[in-house]
Amino acid sequence: MKKSEHTLSDNKKSLMGKEMEGGKKRVSVHGGHSGQFCLHAADSLEEIVRAYIDNGFVWVGITEHMPPSIEDIIYPEEKQAGMGPVELYHRFGKYILECRRLQVKYSKQITLLVGLETENYPGYERQVLALREEFQPDYIVGSIHHLDTIPIDYSEAEYERAAREFGGIDKLYCRYFDEQYSMLQAIRPAVVGHFDLIRIYDAHYTDRLQRPKIMARIKRNLDFIGDCGLILDYNLRALNKGAKEPYVSEPILHLARQRGIAVVPGDDSHGVKSIGVNIDGAMRRLAELGFDTDWRMPAGAEESSARAMRG
Ligand SMILES: [Zn+2]
Ligand SMILES: [Zn+2]
Repeated sequence: MKKSEHTLSDNKKSLMGKEMEGGKKRVSVHGGHSGQFCLHAADSLEEIVRAYIDNGFVWVGITEHMPPSIEDIIYPEEKQAGMGPVELYHRFGKYILECRRLQVKYSKQITLLVGLETENYPGYERQVLALREEFQPDYIVGSIHHLDTIPIDYSEAEYERAAREFGGIDKLYCRYFDEQYSMLQAIRPAVVGHFDLIRIYDAHYTDRLQRPKIMARIKRNLDFIGDCGLILDYNLRALNKGAKEPYVSEPILHLARQRGIAVVPGDDSHGVKSIGVNIDGAMRRLAELGFDTDWRMPAGAEESSARAMRG
């Protein structure tokens, strides 16, 4: 490259400012929970979208929690606000409408995708398929937050309760990865949310992930993800909550890399404050590990959003 070209491209990068880090685009494959549509998040969805634009994100999937069809796993904040499955279902419909409105309104500044993050409980599969049919989100993030209706990422006390229920932490991990495997098969989500969330309150997770029964399940799930071409969410919310690395943790990232699985940053933001935090470090790490930083979009999402915008 000639010297003049170098200067030109460097200037261009600095002009484009925050969105460029070593030439890589800021994106979030799992982002944008808002206080408007989720009571453990903050701020309106429009404020969230503007914050993504201000922080130079090129594309973002807004992936609100789906409304469950049973009472048992409704988040405490929603319960306290007197919301049941019916109210949550109506709120979700409003979320989709608002997200579609913002998708069009800001289409010149950012590519927004309208997504849904799954909740699992006995019989949830039918609800996911019904919501997909009715609301036609651009894509789905498949996540496990509960095991037999006990929340695993809500508090340490609930995590311990789940571990007792399933006969210890090793068994809790096995149960988590089995539940994830059955979700992957039933839903085939374009994106797998926080793959190893089960390590959230476990100080010994590095060793535990290597235990044969657990590692066998991890490899089985990754094989399926690789075969189906699903994306792994590189979930930065772990860092906000004090973890030393995002989900997916390093040993699993290496296995994903070997299988040619796309890993894409997801900030899992729950308010304006967490947007853009830690994203550049995460992109750098994925680049170092050899992942494609021309971040893959969820399968079918771009076509789906284009169709929706045409009306
Ligand atoms: Zn949430
Ligand atoms: Zn989640």
